[in-house]
Amino acid sequence: MTAMSPKSKATERNPEIFRQLPSVDEVLRLPAVVELVHQDGTAAVTDAARTVVARMREEIAAGRLDERALKLAVGSIEEAVVKQLRQVLEHSLRPVINATGVVLHTNLGRSPLAASVIDHIREAATCYSNLEFDLETGDRGKRDVHVQRLFAKLLSSDAGYDVETIVVNNCAAAVMVALNSLAEGGEVIVSRGELVEIGGSFRVPEVMAKSQAILREVGTTNRTRIADYERAITDKTRLLLRVHRSNFEIVGFTEQPPLAELAALGKKHKIPVMEDQGNGSLFDLRAVGVTNESGVGESLRAGVDVVTYSGDKLLGGPQAGMLSGRPELVRKIRSNPMFRALRVDKLTYAALEATLLLYLRGEHDSIPVLRMMRLSVEDIGKRAQTFLAHMRKLPTLEACILPGESIIGGGTTPGATLPTFLIALSCAGHRVEDCQAALRRNDPPVVARVEDGRVLLDLRTVLPEQESALLAAIQNISR
Ligand SMILES: *Cc1c(COP(=O)(O)O)cnc(C)c1O
Repeated sequence: MTAMSPKSKATERNPEIFRQLPSVDEVLRLPAVVELVHQDGTAAVTDAARTVVARMREEIAAGRLDERALKLAVGSIEEAVVKQLRQVLEHSLRPVINATGVVLHTNLGRSPLAASVIDHIREAATCYSNLEFDLETGDRGKRDVHVQRLFAKLLSSDAGYDVETIVVNNCAAAVMVALNSLAEGGEVIVSRGELVEIGGSFRVPEVMAKSQAILREVGTTNRTRIADYERAITDKTRLLLRVHRSNFEIVGFTEQPPLAELAALGKKHKIPVMEDQGNGSLFDLRAVGVTNESGVGESLRAGVDVVTYSGDKLLGGPQAGMLSGRPELVRKIRSNPMFRALRVDKLTYAALEATLLLYLRGEHDSIPVLRMMRLSVEDIGKRAQTFLAHMRKLPTLEACILPGESIIGGGTTPGATLPTFLIALSCAGHRVEDCQAALRRNDPPVVARVEDGRVLLDLRTVLPEQESALLAAIQNISR
């Protein structure tokens, strides 16, 4: 029973009104509701009916439903139950159209997966698998082997040794387990220019504290020299750490020793060097015109002993955090009980394995985020023109094509943009924020940028198969 609120005037005048409220049993006997029970089961429909009746009782008690309004509400109670049931039973996690032009949009799930990746996930999910079973010997195996072999192929020639890789839930977890395994109780030297917050409460000093390592800051915000690191080295030093500035830049009077110099210093003092590289790029970003950013291979080539990076940023795979590098260090991290707590499931291994196979085959364009980044501005311009040609017939919207910029995003490549063409919508007679909100409420929802009083749509991040749905969404809001 719902608690009664203080009696309102309507109910004081007419306590009889509650009697006109149907019981849940009566609602369940209505023909449309009986039909629903066949489709969606007794439990869910009863719950929906109960919710609808309780809501009406509250409305009466609060004085918001008088006798006439109640009669109307009772008359349409079947529709109310259907609506309530749909609301509960529909997925909360829904596909959206990303028209923002931000390729790795963290709030929109970062990287979509390739079709062959989905096939492999489906296989691994629906059947038993050899996840931890050696089919040769019949003995217990290790789940790492499925991707270890592929990372080794992709990274060992850069490193100059057989690279070992393990996988945890995300890059934040990778950093945490690495710091704890390699530096618990000891000092980790980091430049003051790299004490970053990546977002979502991932702050280097706090992660360090939680990992039970002691932060030893050196240098200044804008300039840190190799001598600053060297002076700070003591017998308590366990690790030299480089953190990629993934979401901001320091410009002007700046200095940071190259990775190779830091690696050489570590070697000289027999102290491991780790880089939180983050972006996970396994391909040459210069191919898309990004020149100030390097990949995982380059870090290993510079002599970094352990690199941590995400699976769903520039790698274009599932959410995951990788630790790649010197076998003895990676094995030490693997033996930490924290690794067991942070390990990933078979679906992630399946997704990673299938994504890495696309790299080995050189099929970069099958990886959605790589394809989006590699789209030429001319191709996007042509798509925008074709799109506009279909749109011209709309009454209340004005659209034109503007040159603009897509953003790689996701805490990678700060400041790096890709040239694009934008479809700019002016919504005659409506506030632009209302237009933007209407697109968001569409089914499927469309997420777009607003600038200078216009809604901007960047087709770079709209999957080709979503274009007709995007067109329909615009048609819906132009009514
Ligand atoms: C993105 C990023 C992280 C966090 O990665 P998640 O996979 O989201 O946990 C950590 N460090 C760096 C340098 C990053 O770029």
